[in-house]
Amino acid sequence: MALVVQKYGGTSVGSIEKIRAVARRVIECYGEGNQMVVVLSAMAGQTDGLIQLAGEMTDNPDPRELDVLVSTGEQVSIALFAMAVRSMGYDARSLLGFQVAIHTSHLYGKARIHEIETERITKELGRNRIVAVAGFQGLDDRGNITTLGRGGSDTTAVALKADVCEIFTDVDGIYTTDPNICPKARKLEIISYEEMLEMASLGAKVLEIRSVEFAKKYNVPIHVRSTFVKERGTMVAAETKDMERVMVSGVAYDKNQARVTIKRVPDRPGIASMIFEPVLKSGIVVDMIVQNTSEEGLTDLTFTVAKPEFGETMKLVGTVAKEIGAERVLGDEDISKISIIGIGMRSHAGVAKKMFESLAKENINIMMISTSEIKISCVIEEKYTELAVRVLHGAFGLDDEEKEAK
Ligand code: ADP
Ligand code: ASP
Ligand code: MG
Repeated sequence: MALVVQKYGGTSVGSIEKIRAVARRVIECYGEGNQMVVVLSAMAGQTDGLIQLAGEMTDNPDPRELDVLVSTGEQVSIALFAMAVRSMGYDARSLLGFQVAIHTSHLYGKARIHEIETERITKELGRNRIVAVAGFQGLDDRGNITTLGRGGSDTTAVALKADVCEIFTDVDGIYTTDPNICPKARKLEIISYEEMLEMASLGAKVLEIRSVEFAKKYNVPIHVRSTFVKERGTMVAAETKDMERVMVSGVAYDKNQARVTIKRVPDRPGIASMIFEPVLKSGIVVDMIVQNTSEEGLTDLTFTVAKPEFGETMKLVGTVAKEIGAERVLGDEDISKISIIGIGMRSHAGVAKKMFESLAKENINIMMISTSEIKISCVIEEKYTELAVRVLHGAFGLDDEEKEAK
């Protein structure tokens, strides 16, 4: 008997009818002799709605209470799902994060899973029940509710380390780029953990990055597939030799970016660490960093952060900028990051040149560049995001020519 974990995202459980359909699908798999643990997200739009409510209450919600609030969305969906299963004549039990228990660090809103207890789930499965686990939720070592960050239900599912881990979503697999903005995107049969890690960290929200890190570490193959159709989706698994043949395997974009520039910073040892210390201490992740060559002992320093952290970053950096005698701090939220990814890049030259030329042909200005062994990212104006994705997708031979462009 296999232990199957199925995770259903927000749009898949977006209405009573959809939750019933999910229950039917789970029961079918249960009927084939599997033990079923079902991880659910909040119903579509719920988490955003809860965050908005907090924002209406105060500009600066307490992080602990924000997690108490936003974690409730998942409580609603697992309860409704368990009711649906029971109304169909099968036994089901819903479990919240703390009931499982899913132990995490205490960084509210971004907690990391340390350990998942298996006793309670095993007990419920032993009673032939279908177990519904709230995604996204955790418990820190002081007994507080935590959440795992946006999209965190994927991580809950993978961290359960089942024999089979299926992520059901509103697209039928992982594509060469977001199929919702590039009609010629091609569905992949398989993608390596490394490439998926890059895709996820560069904005392809089809899988949350930590879920892929977890899957890679524990060698859990993930099957990403559609809630609404039966066909196979895409496997995320360990790298195979064939994968190197393709130079670029995907294009990703991330509109959730903002840029901070500190003008005329004194160029001397220790300054960068003074600037970044308060930012990093607050748990803000700094992405790209560019420092210009110095002129007359002064330089400009530019870096990017995620949009929700822009306000706080500007405040923190504003204070240090004064302390170190920098001229001023500029901010820009209308940017996006566009990236090409492929393990084949390691062995193919000229990829960067082709990327820059393709963007230049469309008059898209590149503001920042960063590279790694298997990806190249450029920061551009946000309004050109969709155009850039389509252009690069075509330029690197990823277009599915049988599909008509919209
Ligand atoms: P869920 O609510 O099921 O967790 P998400 O909205 O988090 O779903 O993720 C699915 C979405 O990811 C798709 O609707 C699609 O727009 C987006 N996406 C971005 N990049 C890709 C890609 N390369 N392949 C498939 N989907 C992608
Ligand atoms: N409900 C949470 C979110 O919207 C977690 C998830 O859906 O995975 O981010
Ligand atoms: Mg998601």
